[in-house]
Amino acid sequence: MAMANLARKKAINLFNNTVISSGALRYSYSLSSTFSRGFASGSDENDVVVIGGGPGGYVAAIKAAQLGLKTTCIEKRGALGGTCLNVGCIPSKALLHSSHMYHEAKTSFAKHGVKLDNVEIDLAAMMGQKDKAISTLTKGIEGLFKKNKVTYVKGHGKFLSPSEISVDTLEGGTTVVKGKNIIIATGSDVKGLPGITIDEKRIVSSTGALSLTEIPKKLTVIGAGYIGLEMGSVWARLGSEVTVVEFAPAIVPSMDGEIRKQFQRSLEKQKMKFMLNTKVVAVDTTTDVVKLTLEPSSGGDQSVLEADVVLVSAGRNPFTSGLGLETIGVETDKIGRIPVDERFATNVNGVLRLVM
Ligand SMILES: Cc1cc2nc3c(=O)[nH]c(=O)nc-3n(C[C@H](O)[C@H](O)[C@H](O)COP(=O)(O)OP(=O)(O)OC[C@H]3O[C@@H](n4cnc5c(N)ncnc54)[C@H](O)[C@@H]3O)c2cc1C
Repeated sequence: MAMANLARKKAINLFNNTVISSGALRYSYSLSSTFSRGFASGSDENDVVVIGGGPGGYVAAIKAAQLGLKTTCIEKRGALGGTCLNVGCIPSKALLHSSHMYHEAKTSFAKHGVKLDNVEIDLAAMMGQKDKAISTLTKGIEGLFKKNKVTYVKGHGKFLSPSEISVDTLEGGTTVVKGKNIIIATGSDVKGLPGITIDEKRIVSSTGALSLTEIPKKLTVIGAGYIGLEMGSVWARLGSEVTVVEFAPAIVPSMDGEIRKQFQRSLEKQKMKFMLNTKVVAVDTTTDVVKLTLEPSSGGDQSVLEADVVLVSAGRNPFTSGLGLETIGVETDKIGRIPVDERFATNVNGVLRLVM
């Protein structure tokens, strides 16, 4: 007991000078002031509860546990690693890598004197390779949780009070997890477009585009952000005719102008086509092909573009609905983002939001 208290005191001291590294960002802050409700001494109450097991949440949970705090992480997906490992960075990079190898074998090897007959795609094997990468990495995080003694609760978490989370567990049933300090690390979800229903078959989000079972003859990507362009590039390399429709006058609008130009050139070399300054005004899914009615962004003559699959890639929304924020009075803005102060604290004492 005395040893445990000593370790806990040491952790609190450490927290005063620690740097938590999570993905691309580094946060330097005093945790004893951040965690304003102090630290637990009871047996089932946690010092820290993290809702969401993505790159933000799992890193925060492991770091807290390493510093001696009793920590629980709640994740509803059934696998750790969040969007990034399950339906984001990792699967997209796995498919970019595989499709790059196919494309090189098909278009460049011969120039280098490497001759191959009948280079073919086995799409199921390619997807299997991607799925293996995902499961190895997500299981690795589960291993890190065990090693660092983070309790992992699988289920959907919802606030009952600022220190109690009700979890609808994946096994069925409900459990309540208590914590002195709660970190909201629920990430983001796909943003739809008005009038377009994503069915993840013919009209897909990035999640559906990572698991197509056939190579579409024609793929239209709505939105020229980096996610749409990555997925467009994967399918273009595998043989789809890819057209990107973008409202703005340039692709990846937040990037440097010179990079944008070079990026577009290299995608055009992969035979991707771009319709910039263009908006989608209607979608017809009543026939075998999806028909998109297009119009210049500033208005004008309409045209129709046909596709076998349409990828809606218009950004992502904060994943804060269904968390019970209204029950405890956590403020959100119009699109569901939670404002925080310089310590990442929300307006409710003891409830923090992780910022990626
Ligand atoms: C296709 C694609 C490619 C990407 N490529 C890159 C890249 O190359 N590089 C890069 O830096 N970023 C990339 N990203 C972005 C990256 O995935 C995110 O920045 C990152 O995942 C954010 O981490 P997070 O922990 O904040 O949220 P998330 O990873 O979204 O994790 C949040 C987790 O919380 C869980 N959750 C939500 N609500 C609840 C609840 N109520 N109860 C329990 N659990 C809940 C969700 O299931 C989810 O697993 C990509 C994204 C996509 C979609």
